[in-house]
Amino acid sequence: MSETTYDLIVIGGGINGCGIARDAAGRGLKILLAEQDDLASATSSWSSKLIHGGLRYLEQYEFRLVREALQEREVLLKIAPHLIHPLEFILPHDRHMRPAWMVRLGLFLYDHIGGKISLPGSRTIMFPDPQYSAGLKAVIRRGFFYSDARVDDARLTVLNAVSAREHGAEIRTRTRVTGGRREGDSWLLTLRNMRDGGETTARARGVVNASGPWVKHVLDDTLNIDTPAAVRLVKGSHIVVPRVHDEAHAYILQNPDKRVVFVIPYEQKYSLIGTTDVNVHSVDEGHRISDEEIEYLVGAANRWLAKRITPADVVWSYAGVRPLYDDGAANPSEITRDYVLKVDHQHGKLPLLSVFGGKITTYRRLAEHAMQELKPFYAGLGGSWTGDELLPGGDVEDFEERARDLMPRHLGLSPPYLRRLLWRYGSRVDNVLKGIRSVPQLGHLFGEGEHMLAEREIEYLIRNEWAGSADDILWRRTKCGLHMDAAERERAAAFIESKLAR
Ligand SMILES: Cc1cc2nc3c(=O)[nH]c(=O)nc-3n(C[C@H](O)[C@H](O)[C@H](O)COP(=O)(O)OP(=O)(O)OC[C@H]3O[C@@H](n4cnc5c(N)ncnc54)[C@H](O)[C@@H]3O)c2cc1C
Repeated sequence: MSETTYDLIVIGGGINGCGIARDAAGRGLKILLAEQDDLASATSSWSSKLIHGGLRYLEQYEFRLVREALQEREVLLKIAPHLIHPLEFILPHDRHMRPAWMVRLGLFLYDHIGGKISLPGSRTIMFPDPQYSAGLKAVIRRGFFYSDARVDDARLTVLNAVSAREHGAEIRTRTRVTGGRREGDSWLLTLRNMRDGGETTARARGVVNASGPWVKHVLDDTLNIDTPAAVRLVKGSHIVVPRVHDEAHAYILQNPDKRVVFVIPYEQKYSLIGTTDVNVHSVDEGHRISDEEIEYLVGAANRWLAKRITPADVVWSYAGVRPLYDDGAANPSEITRDYVLKVDHQHGKLPLLSVFGGKITTYRRLAEHAMQELKPFYAGLGGSWTGDELLPGGDVEDFEERARDLMPRHLGLSPPYLRRLLWRYGSRVDNVLKGIRSVPQLGHLFGEGEHMLAEREIEYLIRNEWAGSADDILWRRTKCGLHMDAAERERAAAFIESKLAR
């Protein structure tokens, strides 16, 4: 058994664990992050993929959350311009909804509560409109425009881990924390290698429990810490269907049950529709979309959209569990989406900080708050920095210019393919394509067109981004899996697994 002492061990490689690891490493702490599966393999790749203030949270008086989230939208657009992009929303309106003046008031608040915004403000739109009524039923005569942003959630998580590593953190995937206790002047944690079952121990001056839906399990069963704080597991599901309209905007649709459902253009050819709110008792219960949820989402879309969809149109779906802080609300849609940090310590030493709740959108601020909570335990801890340093690959100011610049250097590769890689890797596309001038140099190829997955990219992801299985590459580091048929996916998966086995 080998043993190293860290300043902080972070349990969980979702957005919150990776965000905290990044922030803490940049402040000079020696960090180990342990993730039992792949980075972003749980809630952080199951989201609606929005960087948003959460318009509907205004109705629940979650002003703190909405303000912070809108401020973060600005920061994240700046530090990850390759992964986060503005998205226009249309909220169609009819007489069964809350009155138009009330919607306008809410949108006014949404435009202003976070301070200065760089995205276009909200406005009323009368239909038909040449652009914004695309996809809507003709009977709908009025709607509202507002702005938010979208994100590649899994890549945002991985890039926080990459940045953490570049600031000195050690990231171990497929490593589960199976036990831990305070012993002498440190925490002693047991780590299991999920590939070979081997166990090691590691010591640390503090622990962060960022295990998302497992937060209570880690507290109760792994670390044996008693806390009254509880988590509510609320499943949310999404369906992906062939695109319901050709314009770039998303819809936010009001349902008779007062919930909203998003319809978001997704991966060029598709629309992403979600989500649901279903109470579950365990993470395992939340892994698969149910037939009722599919019916619910299809019904929500058909209520407003001209192109009728049916369950048979669903080409992909995913479901995941929100780890919400239990504030006692009965209705799962009304449980707070804000985060709560709980610190347990032993006579002012050996802290354990646990994360309850949180949004992808607020992960960076959550990490800053976590650092504030931990400051008393780490003398001389540095100040906030993560809002000023670009995430890896983010140093691309003008994407079109950069794409044009790539073309002569990789003459044999198609411009749409180069552009796709540029959006995925930002300036680090140069590392992916180093020395490549023609298609055959890319090695084995899977899929086609701009969504092609090349052996060169697979190698890059294994070497630089902890890819450790076919799913890590086909569904998280890229979405190439969505663009392949089943046979091609199987061929790609077999190839990736054989590469990993070498
Ligand atoms: C349906 C849905 C839609 C959403 N939409 C949005 C949205 O549009 N915008 C937004 O901002 N937010 C959204 N969210 C919220 C957001 O996705 C989550 O709040 C966020 O991803 C939580 O991240 P996390 O790091 O806390 O948890 P997770 O991503 O679940 O990470 C926890 C990690 O801990 C690991 N782990 C657990 N136990 C151990 C252990 N013992 N040892 C080692 N590792 C362990 C797990 O494997 C997991 O990877 C949505 C959530 C859902 C479910």
